[in-house]
Amino acid sequence: MRLVLVGPPGAGKGTQAQYIASNLSIPKISTGDIFRANVSGGTELGKLAKTYMDRGDLVPDQVTIAMVRDRLSEDDAQDGFLLDGFPRNVPQAEILKKMLADWGQGLDLVLELVVDDDEVVRRLAGRRTCSQCGRIWHVEFDDKQDDRCDACDGTLFQRDDDKEETVRHRLEVYQEQTAPLISYYADEGTLVGVDATGPVEEVTQRAMDAIRPFLG
Ligand code: ADP
Ligand code: ADP
Repeated sequence: MRLVLVGPPGAGKGTQAQYIASNLSIPKISTGDIFRANVSGGTELGKLAKTYMDRGDLVPDQVTIAMVRDRLSEDDAQDGFLLDGFPRNVPQAEILKKMLADWGQGLDLVLELVVDDDEVVRRLAGRRTCSQCGRIWHVEFDDKQDDRCDACDGTLFQRDDDKEETVRHRLEVYQEQTAPLISYYADEGTLVGVDATGPVEEVTQRAMDAIRPFLG
């Protein structure tokens, strides 16, 4: 299964990606996670990406696409993958399509996680991430009173780009650059929308119900 998750920042892509990828036994490829790992590792890619991420802008396509091409060329991605956070604009989608076609592959499904703006803001404001295992938590919805990860006891942190000012800009970037992907993939016939409100497990269930007919 070659699957893409789209939706605004805070829709729950990362949260759902970990469960869906594990259910389908495919690697979860999150461009945001790869950029953040490069930022913490102090690599050249990380230094470049950080200036864009801190502003809430997209990292230039050339850089992002080269990184995704490398990742998709790895052995574990040959029989399927779940992309979270890529593509993020129509040019990235077109290059992905060409890249996969060159390899004799294509996307099976694009899942859109649908939530309204108020919920997105609530989710981003309370998002915390584990610095050790990368698990995503929410201060209010997971009732996190302390800053420790319940899964591995690592320390939780708030992403710099989840501060209010940057969140507003990221939502504008989503509307301008990423939202056009919805009609792009609807025209291609690969888009399925999933209601992403309600408890995490229920959203996973809805997502798996939407995916099932596309499993080979
Ligand atoms: P969220 O989960 O809130 O949608 P991500 O973790 O996917 O955010 O992305 C964080 C940041 O990483 C983005 O604001 C952007 O700067 C950069 N980024 C991630 N994916 C891409 C991409 N496909 N193209 C360009 N920039 C990206
Ligand atoms: P994205 O990757 O789309 O930016 P995340 O998966 O990081 O979104 O989720 C954003 C925040 O919302 C996190 O704090 C996460 O714990 C929380 N969250 C995700 N799904 C749900 C849900 N169904 N109900 C409540 N909170 C959720």
